[in-house]
Amino acid sequence: MSQLLHVLIVEDNPADAEMLLRELRRGGFDTQAERVETPAAMREALTRQSFDLVISDYNLPQFSAPDALQTLQTTGLDIPFFVISGTIDEDMAVAMMRAGAHEYMMKDGLKRLIPSLVRALRDAGIRREHRHAEELLRQSEKRLSMAITSARMYTWDWDVVSGKLIRAGHYQGVHGEDASAEGTFDELLDIMHPDDRRRVEQVVAYSLQTAAPFRVDFRIHHRSGEVRWLEAQAQPYQDASGRCTRVIGVTHDISERKRAEQLVSEIAFNDPLTSLPNRNSLRERVIEAINSDAGRGAPFALLLMDLNHFKDINDTLGHHRGDLVLKEVAQRLCSAVAAPSVVARLGGDEFAILLPDLDNKASVHVVIEQIQRVLHEPVTIDELAIVVEAGIGVALYPDHGTNPDSLLRRADVAMYTAKKAGASYVVYDMKDDHHSTARLALMAELRQAIEQDRLVLHYQPKIDLNTGRICGAEALVRWQHPRRGMIAPDQFIAAAEQGGLIHPLTRWVLQTATMQCGLWRSQGLDVPMAVNLSARNLLDQQLPEEIAGMLLRHSLPSEWLTLEITESAIMADPTRAGEILQRLSDTGVRLAIDDFGIGYSSLGYLSRLPVHCLKVDRSFVGKMLHNPDDAVIVRSTIDLAHNLALEVVAEGVEDKETYDSLLSWGCDAAQGYLMSRPLPADAFTEWLRDSPWGLDRGVAGI
Ligand code: C2E
Ligand code: MG
Ligand code: MG
Repeated sequence: MSQLLHVLIVEDNPADAEMLLRELRRGGFDTQAERVETPAAMREALTRQSFDLVISDYNLPQFSAPDALQTLQTTGLDIPFFVISGTIDEDMAVAMMRAGAHEYMMKDGLKRLIPSLVRALRDAGIRREHRHAEELLRQSEKRLSMAITSARMYTWDWDVVSGKLIRAGHYQGVHGEDASAEGTFDELLDIMHPDDRRRVEQVVAYSLQTAAPFRVDFRIHHRSGEVRWLEAQAQPYQDASGRCTRVIGVTHDISERKRAEQLVSEIAFNDPLTSLPNRNSLRERVIEAINSDAGRGAPFALLLMDLNHFKDINDTLGHHRGDLVLKEVAQRLCSAVAAPSVVARLGGDEFAILLPDLDNKASVHVVIEQIQRVLHEPVTIDELAIVVEAGIGVALYPDHGTNPDSLLRRADVAMYTAKKAGASYVVYDMKDDHHSTARLALMAELRQAIEQDRLVLHYQPKIDLNTGRICGAEALVRWQHPRRGMIAPDQFIAAAEQGGLIHPLTRWVLQTATMQCGLWRSQGLDVPMAVNLSARNLLDQQLPEEIAGMLLRHSLPSEWLTLEITESAIMADPTRAGEILQRLSDTGVRLAIDDFGIGYSSLGYLSRLPVHCLKVDRSFVGKMLHNPDDAVIVRSTIDLAHNLALEVVAEGVEDKETYDSLLSWGCDAAQGYLMSRPLPADAFTEWLRDSPWGLDRGVAGI
C-alpha cells in the first residue's frame, strides 16, 4: 500500500510542480499537494494543514528557497525541506543545507529524490518521537516538582560523626522560607516538640545501632509559629568498620494528613452537639480504666443517666431548644465532676459518667449528689424555665462487670430500675436484671432449690400489745445457697416473680408454714401463722382451693392463717385482686395489708376489701420517735384502722420506747428485733419457751 504524502510545493510553474508529483508517485507515494508562490500563501497553507514535506524552487518571481525555508522555520514546524533548482551552485547549496534544508537537487537530476525523501521522512519521524518523549519527560518532571512542592518533601543526608545535616529539595516549604540547606541533628531536636524528642532519639539510636531503616513522625515548631507534623524515613549506612556514620532520608510534611486524621477521630470519638466524648470514646476510656494499674484495674464506677421526659421537651418546645437543654446539661455535668472523670454523651438524652480512681464506694454517692445539685436549677432557654430531672444507674467495676459492654448494660438496667421506682439513682442489683446470664443461672438454681427443699423458713413472733405475749408468727423465706450462703428474700422474690417461679415458691412456703404451724399446734404451741403473698399470687385462681386443702391436711382452723399482701400488689390490678381476696377470705383465712403507708392508697378503698389487719411499714415505725411526721402517720393509721374495725400491727419495733409509745397509742400488735429477729423453727421453739414474750404456759397448757 502506497503512503499518502502531503506535499507543499513552492513553485511558480505548475508544469514543474506536476513533474515533481509524478516523480513522487513513481517512487510509490500517493500525494496530496498544494502549490504556493508567495510567503503569505505559504504561511497560510502551513497553519491550515499539516504537511510531510516542503519542496521549494530556488528562484520564484516573488519568493525564493531561502525565504521559504525561513518562513517554514518561523512556524516552528519540523518538516523536511527540499530545494529543487534549475541551476546548480555549490555555494548556494551549502548555504541552504547549513540553513536547515534537507536536500538540494537539480530539476533534471531527481534520481536522489525518493531515497532522500525516505530518509528525511524517517529522520523526521525519529525526531518527532524524541520530541514526544521529551515532552512526556518534561511533563512528568513538572508533575514531580509540583508533587514535591505540594507534598512538602525534601531529602537529607546526615553525617553522624560531624552531626551535619544537608538538605535538598523543598525543605523551605517544610521548615520556612529562610531555612538553610545545612543544619545539624541537634538543631532539628531543638525545634522538635518536647513530647516527641525522646521517642525520635530512641528510634534513631536504635536504627544506628542495628543499621535498620526507620520511619518516625514528630512535630516541629515551624518558623511561622505553627506546629507542623513531619514524617522522616531513612536508611543508615555503615562504614568499613560496620559503624553507622551516615543516614540518608526523606522528610515530608504530613500536617494535612494528621489534621485529616484528627478530624476523622474527632468525628468518630466526639459528639458533635456537645463536644463531649461519644460512646466509642467512652468505651476506650473504660478499657483504659480496666487496664490501668498494670492490668489490675482499680475499682471504678460507670454512671448512666437519662433525662426524664426529654421527649416532651423536644415535642413541645422544638428540637432546637431540646438541643440547647442537652448542651446545658452537658456543661453542668462537666462542672460537677473533675478530671480524670469522663462525661460522655451516648446519644439522645443519654449521658454517661466514668468515675475512675474510686477510693471507696461511698464517693459515688458524693458525686451523684453533686450531679443532682447542678441539675437542680431549671435550665432557662428563651426565658422558659425547663426543669431537668434524671434517673441514674450505677455499675461498679469489677463487682458488676469486667468489660465495657457488660458495665454499660448493667448501668442501663440500674437506670431503668431507678426510673421505674422514681428514684434519683440506683446501683445495679442482679435481682432487677431480667436478662443477665447470672440471673438466669440463679433462676435455674432457685427452681432446683424449691424442688430439693433447700429453702428455709424463719419465723418472727408477733406480740399482742395488750397481753405482752406472742399472738402469732410471720414466716419469712430464705434460700440456703450452697456457695453464696443464706440469701435474703428481697434478693430473689422479685426475680422469682418475673422468672415464673413465684407460684411454686409460694406453694412451698405455704405448705411448710402450715405444716410447722400444725406441728407446733400438735405440741400445744399455739402460734397462728402469717405468710406473705406476691402480686402474681393474686392472679392464681387455684390458690384459694389449694390453701383450703393445706389447712385441712394439717388440721388447722382457717383463721390460724393470715395472708400478708402489700398495698402495691393489690393496687397493681385492684379489680382482680378484689375478686381473689374475696375468694381467699371466703375460705376463712385472715388477710393483712403489709407495708402499709408507703403505697399511697386510701384507707377508704382498702376498707372495702375483705381485710382484717394493717401492718404499718417499718420505715414509719422505726423513725416515729424522732420524726413527728412519721409519728402522725402511725397514730392516725391506728385511729383510722380502728374506726374501720381493722387490727393494726406495727412492724420494725426495735426499742422499748417505740414499743411503749405504740402501746399507749392503742396499737394492737408489734413485730420487730426488740422481741426477736426471724428465727429458724428450732430456735423459735426455744424462744417460745425462754422469752418473756413467749407463750403464756398457763394459757397454752404446757
Ligand atoms: P415483710 O413481709 O415486711 O417482712 C418483714 C421484714 O422486716 C423481714 O425482712 C424482717 O426480717 C424485717 N424485720 C422484722 N423486724 C425488723 C426490725 O425490727 N427492724 C428491721 N430493720 N427489720 C425488721 P425479710 O425477712 O428480709 O423479708 C423481706 C421481705 O421479703 C418481706 O417483708 C416480704 O415482703 C418478703 N418475703 C419474705 N418472705 C416471703 C415469702 O415467703 N413470700 C413472699 N412473697 N415474700 C416474702
Ligand atoms: Mg410481711
Ligand atoms: Mg412489711
